[in-house]
Amino acid sequence: MKKKKTQKYSIPFNGLKEGKHDFTFEVDQAFFENFPFSDIENADVTVNVEFEKKSNLFNIVFDINGVLHLYCDRCNDSLDINIQGKERLIAKFDHENYSESTDDIIIISSSDNDLDLSNSIYEFISLLKPSKLEHKNMEDCNQDVIKKLNEISVSNDSSDEVDPRWAALEKLKTKK
Ligand SMILES: [Zn+2]
Repeated sequence: MKKKKTQKYSIPFNGLKEGKHDFTFEVDQAFFENFPFSDIENADVTVNVEFEKKSNLFNIVFDINGVLHLYCDRCNDSLDINIQGKERLIAKFDHENYSESTDDIIIISSSDNDLDLSNSIYEFISLLKPSKLEHKNMEDCNQDVIKKLNEISVSNDSSDEVDPRWAALEKLKTKK
């Protein structure tokens, strides 16, 4: 018998008995290809999901652990950020007076057999990404880039321009 193919980040809840079930999802570069506007493009994150099936709702706990492969805002070199977090989500069926999903409640259509968790996983990982992406110490940055950046900022610095009065004096001197 051919097993029904399910999506990679989905839970086939219809086939599960009531109670707790564990799932593990690996989040990598291919995962983020589904999110073309993501500012995360590569990662090595494991998401352990504890899925509790109850008669009228699902309790879902996400245990997120891994590394985001990002770039330093200061020197543009690769920057690995460790992330770790625990998130909860409740999934309910649309026939129970709930019509709109919120941050921690998602609504499932009663005709669905699978619960796709990829959007939730994406949101949780995005929340764990720090807003400031820089090497902790300036010394850890790519020193060649830092040096170049400093050169540019010095040459743009207006205080380095010769004072016009001095320039005028200089002209007088050379005339003599
Ligand atoms: Zn850096």
